[in-house]
Amino acid sequence: MAHGAGASIFFLEELYHAKDQRLVFERELATGFCEDGVSESAPARISGSLTDYSGEIQFRAAVRFFYQTVCDRCLKPIEGVLEFSIDAPVVTDPAKREEAEGETVVAENEALDLCEIIRYGVREYLPAKRVCSMTCKGLCPTCGADLNEGKCSCKKPVDPRLEGLKEFFNESND
Ligand SMILES: [Zn+2]
Ligand SMILES: [Zn+2]
Repeated sequence: MAHGAGASIFFLEELYHAKDQRLVFERELATGFCEDGVSESAPARISGSLTDYSGEIQFRAAVRFFYQTVCDRCLKPIEGVLEFSIDAPVVTDPAKREEAEGETVVAENEALDLCEIIRYGVREYLPAKRVCSMTCKGLCPTCGADLNEGKCSCKKPVDPRLEGLKEFFNESND
């Protein structure tokens, strides 16, 4: 499985036997990412290398992650591509992740899970604000109309405490 096109697990052992202490990889992987209203829309692409510098292993990769979500303002479905790169040392003990300065990649039990690395990166790099367009006007808070398609007939929102008073004045005018 380790060399299959869709395999996401690397064993560091493969690297120790590799020519030039270097393994190059390119994969298309379904990571199953689905968090915080964002879900994967197509398999992610990852290409990179693992290099052994006399026992210090460096992980380098470029990732393209395809996702779907909804616009924060108007709730329209949107598709996005998130691109990021990772250049980080590999630690074999997850506890060392906290100690290490900066980004690290964990290879627990000498195994590296590319899907997990991608999901970790997505959480890190996904923008907090996701909009269909920078100029999206969003929805009317009163009637829910999409304000990108034109103004709705709502007046400015009225304070509910003043609403009763208004009716009172209307009635007394009759
Ligand atoms: Zn929008
Ligand atoms: Zn409205």
